[in-house]
Amino acid sequence: MAFPQQFLDELVSRNDIVDVVSSYVTLTRKGGNYFGLCPFHNEKTPSFSVSPDKQIYHCFGCKHGGGVISFIMEIENLSFPDAVRFLAKRANMEVPDDGADREASRRRQRILELNREAARWFYQTLSTPAGAAVAAYLDKRQITRKTAVSFGLGAAPDSWDSLLTAMIRKGYSKEELLAAGLVVQNKQGRLYDKFRNRLMFPVIDVRGDVVAFGGRVLDKSEPKYMNTQETIVYSKRRNLYGINLAKKTKRPNIILCEGNIDVITLHQAGFDNAVASMGTALTTEQTRILSRYTKELVLCYDNDGAGKAATEKAIALLENSEFAVRVLQLPRRLQDGEYVKQDVDDFIKFHGGAAFEAILNGSENQMDFRMDAVAAKYDLKDDEQRIAYAGEVSQLIASLPNAVEREVYAGRAAERAGISREAMLLEVKRSYGKRKNQERRALQKENQNIAALHQPRERSLRYDDVRSAMAEEGVIRLLFLDNSLADRCGSLSPEDFSSPLLGSCYEALLEARAQGRSPSPTVLEERFSPEEMGHLTTVLQKPESLAAAEKSLPDYIRIIHESADKRRGGTQEDPLLAAVNKFKEIKGYGGKQNG
Ligand SMILES: [Zn+2]
Repeated sequence: MAFPQQFLDELVSRNDIVDVVSSYVTLTRKGGNYFGLCPFHNEKTPSFSVSPDKQIYHCFGCKHGGGVISFIMEIENLSFPDAVRFLAKRANMEVPDDGADREASRRRQRILELNREAARWFYQTLSTPAGAAVAAYLDKRQITRKTAVSFGLGAAPDSWDSLLTAMIRKGYSKEELLAAGLVVQNKQGRLYDKFRNRLMFPVIDVRGDVVAFGGRVLDKSEPKYMNTQETIVYSKRRNLYGINLAKKTKRPNIILCEGNIDVITLHQAGFDNAVASMGTALTTEQTRILSRYTKELVLCYDNDGAGKAATEKAIALLENSEFAVRVLQLPRRLQDGEYVKQDVDDFIKFHGGAAFEAILNGSENQMDFRMDAVAAKYDLKDDEQRIAYAGEVSQLIASLPNAVEREVYAGRAAERAGISREAMLLEVKRSYGKRKNQERRALQKENQNIAALHQPRERSLRYDDVRSAMAEEGVIRLLFLDNSLADRCGSLSPEDFSSPLLGSCYEALLEARAQGRSPSPTVLEERFSPEEMGHLTTVLQKPESLAAAEKSLPDYIRIIHESADKRRGGTQEDPLLAAVNKFKEIKGYGGKQNG
C-alpha cells in the first residue's frame, strides 16, 4: 500500500478515462459509451468500450478491462506505482513520498546511469589502442564514424576486467554491475566482464535511456551476437533496436529487419525507419510500441529458411491488426555463376540505396508473399500438382474478407497455374462457403452451453455455483452504482459469496463505503490482478437497473444466503469445515439472522 487513498482518488478524478484512452485509441461515441479498436488484441471491428460514467474500459473480445490506472499499466507496461506516477505527471500532481517505492525507483535510476556510463566508456575505448580491432572492423563493414556516433557504437576490449575496474572506480558496486548484466560471476565467485573483444551496440529505448547492450564478435566465432539478459530495466520483448532513431522518421512506414548491423547499414543509406527485434521473433509488445509511430510495416528478413519462417510468424501475428503489412524480399545475387542469398547489408553494399528504395516502393503485400510460398510447393507443369495447388491457394484466398480482393487474387492464381479464371473462382467460392460453415458451427458450439458463457474466461476464477454467482454479480453492480446501498446489505457478509473474487470485491466496496470513498475502479485496482480486473469489468459492464434495486437487491441477497446455507449444510460430514463454520458463527461472521 504505497499511496494515500485521498491522493489516488484525486489522481483518478483528474485523469478522465475517456481523455487518457483517447491518446492511444480513436474513440467514437455510441449512446452513453465510447468504442474503438482494442489496443490489446488485433481486430478490425471495434469491441473495446469505455464508459465515462463508470470510468472503466472493457474489451468484449479479449476481456481486458479496468480503470484508468489499469489501462496505463497495460498499455505502457508499467507497474502500479509507475502507472500512478505517469498519471500524476500527466495531471501535474505531486506524488507523495513512499520509502520502499522510492528505493526501487532509485535502484532503477542507478542501473540506467550505470548503463549510460558504460556506453560512454565503450564509445571512448573505440578511439584508444584497446579498441583498434573494433575500429578496423567498422571500416571493413564500411560503417562511417558519423554513423557510429549516432548509434553510440563502442568497443569492448579483449580483457577480463577493464569495464569492471573502470565502473568500480566511478563508484558503482559489484552488485550493481551484476544487476545491469555487464559482468558475470564464475563458480568461484569471481566477477568478469560479460562483453569482451566485441563491437558494442547500446540499446536505447523510446525514452532515450540506455537499457541494454548487444555485442557482436569481430570474426566468425560463436555466438555471433550476445545481448544483455532480462534486467530490472530491460525486457527483450518490449524493445526494438533502433527505435530511438526510427521513431523520428518522416517516412510513412517502419522497416523490420533481422540484425543490428542491418539497421545501421539502412540508416546510413538514408533509411532512418529501420529497426530490429533482438534475439526474439516479433512480439505483441513490440507491435504496440510500433503502432504509436506508424500504420505500415515492411518486413525485411533474410532470404533464407530462417528469414522466411520469421516472416510467416510476423505475418501471423499481424493478421487482423491495424497495420498494413508488406514483405520486402531481397533478390538473390549472381556471384561466380551462382545465385547466392544476400542480407540487407550485402544488398546495400552491392546495389546501393537507390536500388533498395526501388524494391521498398514495390515491395509485395503479404498476400503475394503467401501465394508465392504456396506456389513454391508445387510443380505447376504437372496436372495433378496443379489441382493440389488450386485447392491450397483457394483456401488461402478464401480467408480474405473482401469479395473484390478474393476475385483479384483468384485471377492471379489462375493465371499462374494456367487454369481458367472461372474454375479458380469456383474453387475459391467453395472454400469460402466451407470456411463460413466452420465459423457458424464454432459459434453454435460456443452458444450451446449458456451456463458456460457466464463463466469467467480465466479458469482459476471459474464459478462453482453459477446461480449464486449471478446474484453476487448483481450485488457488486448495484453497490458500484450507489454504495449507500451497502447499508441495506446488513446480514450479507463476504464469506457468504460463493466466488472468492466477488466476495473480496464486495469486501473492498464495503471498506470504501466505510472510508467515505465513492466506488471507483481505483478501489479495486490496487487489490486485484489484471486477470481479476478483466473479469470484474465484465461483471460491471452488464446492465443493471438502479431503479429496480428496491426489489432486486433483497432478491440477490436471498439467493446468496440460500446457496451459502446449502453449501454449508452439504458439507456437515466434513468435521474440519464444520468447525470452521462454527468458529465463524461465534465470531459473528456469515450470520444467518435474516429478515
Ligand atoms: Zn481486446
